[in-house]
Amino acid sequence: MSKHPTTWNNQMIKRMNKEMVLNSVMESAPLSRADIVQQLGLNKGTVSSLVNELIEEDLIHESGTGESSGGRRPVMLLFNEHAGYAIGIDIGVNYILGVVTNLAGGIVHEKLKKTRDLSVHQLTSLVSATIRYLMEQVPPSKYGVIGIGIGVPGIVDTAGKVLIAPNLKWQDVDLKRILEKEFQCPIFIENEANAGAYGEKRFGAGRNSHSMIYVSIGIGIGSGVILNDELYRGSNGYSGENGHTTIIVDGKECTCGSRGCWEAYSSEFALLQSAEQHEHLAGASLEDLITLADAGNPAALELFQTLGTYIGIGIANLIKTYNPEQVIIGNRIRQAEHLIRNPIMEAVHSSSLPFQRAGLQINFSELSTYSAAAGVSAFAIEGFLKFSQRPLAGPGFPV
Ligand SMILES: [Zn+2]
Repeated sequence: MSKHPTTWNNQMIKRMNKEMVLNSVMESAPLSRADIVQQLGLNKGTVSSLVNELIEEDLIHESGTGESSGGRRPVMLLFNEHAGYAIGIDIGVNYILGVVTNLAGGIVHEKLKKTRDLSVHQLTSLVSATIRYLMEQVPPSKYGVIGIGIGVPGIVDTAGKVLIAPNLKWQDVDLKRILEKEFQCPIFIENEANAGAYGEKRFGAGRNSHSMIYVSIGIGIGSGVILNDELYRGSNGYSGENGHTTIIVDGKECTCGSRGCWEAYSSEFALLQSAEQHEHLAGASLEDLITLADAGNPAALELFQTLGTYIGIGIANLIKTYNPEQVIIGNRIRQAEHLIRNPIMEAVHSSSLPFQRAGLQINFSELSTYSAAAGVSAFAIEGFLKFSQRPLAGPGFPV
């Protein structure tokens, strides 16, 4: 307990109110001070002084005048999405995608790099180099880079340590600590499917869903679960490892050491592995296989048909477990939407009951391959704008 509980409480209440005022502007702008008073039920003086502080801190600005039923037209308030920028990095199994976003999540710069079989040191060095490059691209602003979010295809603990990422061959990599040594801003490490779910919820196809599951299908499979508008991380942060649930007893070997995992049948890796069985498809990439299937190659078409069926079976399992409003399929497999949509829908239909599918939507990601990068960037932005969760003392950022 603080020595001055009243002062502490007052400060905390003020911060929470300020956060509410800012959220109102972010969600409903343009709006006037009177609109905020009405929306939040705070008194006029409080709103006015908090708005003034936020204007001084460059987080909101005044713009033009709004409609008025009579008398003086009110001044309208807008969120200043250019007051700072966040960096989001999606570490894929065979790529690194980095973005710079403004405070509203808009992507202002991006960088994609293909990777292959890198050691932990090589890959983390490449992540650092990508961050340094993106930092140079950040437009001038009051707060500069307010945080860096990193999405990793593996299990991340609450301290930002990657416990295991089978497809990267990572074990116990303290990514947060490695990056904190080099970069002096808050760093957020998150499982990439959780990040993708959050990205789609904030900015993409999941905007209007209260409960949805984002299934990230690249070389591996992970899923991020949004329940009642919040990301469900599980008690230790390890939820969503559906890629490693068994769908076939004693089935194909999986990178996790187990057998018959959903990911061993339904991922980009599974597709490439099946392609190896065909002499003229061996060595083809996902993009090559899509081109071949589009040209009517029967073997390639068959591979996508089988892949879609297995994806659909796993999705039916998720639907039965969570009863979501929406399932969003994202990451690299999204490029093959036109080839796998029908087999997915057929498998979901044949493996679930009509009431389980009532009102359910199955969509492909709206943010294309940006879901995870935009999602981790959003975590960094949220960390910056949540005044009430920051230490009371601390220079630099607004309090
Ligand atoms: Zn597995």
